Amino acid sequence: MQALRKTRPDHGLELIEVDAPPAPGPGEALIAVQAAGVCGTDLHIDAWTAGYHFMAPHLPVTIGHEFSGTVAALGPGVEGLAPGQLVTVRPSATCGTCAACRAGHHDACGTRRGIGVLRDGAFAPRCLVPARNCVPIPDGVPAEVAALAEPLTVSHEAVRVGGVQAGDRVLVLGPGNIGQGIALFARAAGARQVVVAGHGDAARLAVLRRMGFEDLVDFAETGGIAEGLAPYLADGRFDVVIEATGAAAVVAPALQALKAHGVLVITGIHAAPVPIDLVALVRNHQQLRGSYRAPEADWPGVVAFMRTHAAELRHMVTHRLPLARAAEAFALARGRQATKVVVQPAP
Ligand SMILES: [Zn+2]
Ligand SMILES: [Zn+2]
Repeated sequence: MQALRKTRPDHGLELIEVDAPPAPGPGEALIAVQAAGVCGTDLHIDAWTAGYHFMAPHLPVTIGHEFSGTVAALGPGVEGLAPGQLVTVRPSATCGTCAACRAGHHDACGTRRGIGVLRDGAFAPRCLVPARNCVPIPDGVPAEVAALAEPLTVSHEAVRVGGVQAGDRVLVLGPGNIGQGIALFARAAGARQVVVAGHGDAARLAVLRRMGFEDLVDFAETGGIAEGLAPYLADGRFDVVIEATGAAAVVAPALQALKAHGVLVITGIHAAPVPIDLVALVRNHQQLRGSYRAPEADWPGVVAFMRTHAAELRHMVTHRLPLARAAEAFALARGRQATKVVVQPAP
């Protein structure tokens, strides 16, 4: 089969012929990959940025960690899954043997191996995964929407960490797929107003408009962050600000846009340390919180949300390409026109 792989510790990826995975062993499931999203992580792995050099001893590896597919085969002893069933897959494979795993505290596993990062992933027609990582997808959710589950859990976790309450005014910085998901979950949590801002992001903001959001700001058009937020800050500062850009320039303005006792959530991966004015943070009783991978227990709820919100979520998938055009898919994902580019590996 064809697979998109990181073959050596250097810039680039290769679409090459590899052996199909073996039949699933005990506790394993073989997935026929229907849809696999291209994520910022994949772009970093392609570019071989410093934060991903930990992969070097594990190469070659097939990448792709945001995916859905049908169960092609099940190993001995697997219960709760059936051949042909559509599933999404939690990409974080826990070790099963450390003290935390043995105690059933899988979220605390310290020796996890990411599918599509440290073990073979989903930019291939078949992917072998631990069966316990498979989350069944209800009828009515298309495979390409099911492939959004992993980034949606990240968005869901950011809104939970922010403590968004009914009646809050929420500012989301960054209109990419994580920011779009944050906007959806903030609205579902009862936020009175959700403002989403980007920079040179007309296409992604247009997706949000199709999802029913109206308070959208493009700082490239307003002449700056302060100018873009001024009309909203005239009504008061925000209860919660959630950053999903990884851009250092937004952090100080984010704190300035936050009211006293407010919460700033950081989800972006920042390439360098960011200076912040801690005096203002202290005097305003503000809280700064980091948000990352969601706990396993959140997945079924996010999948249930996908069923009730499939129509809005469909707008997030802006491009679909076969695996043979993976290079094109990555180029699209690098540009600012796409929200989520999905590769469809299974024939
Ligand atoms: Zn991802
Ligand atoms: Zn473990």
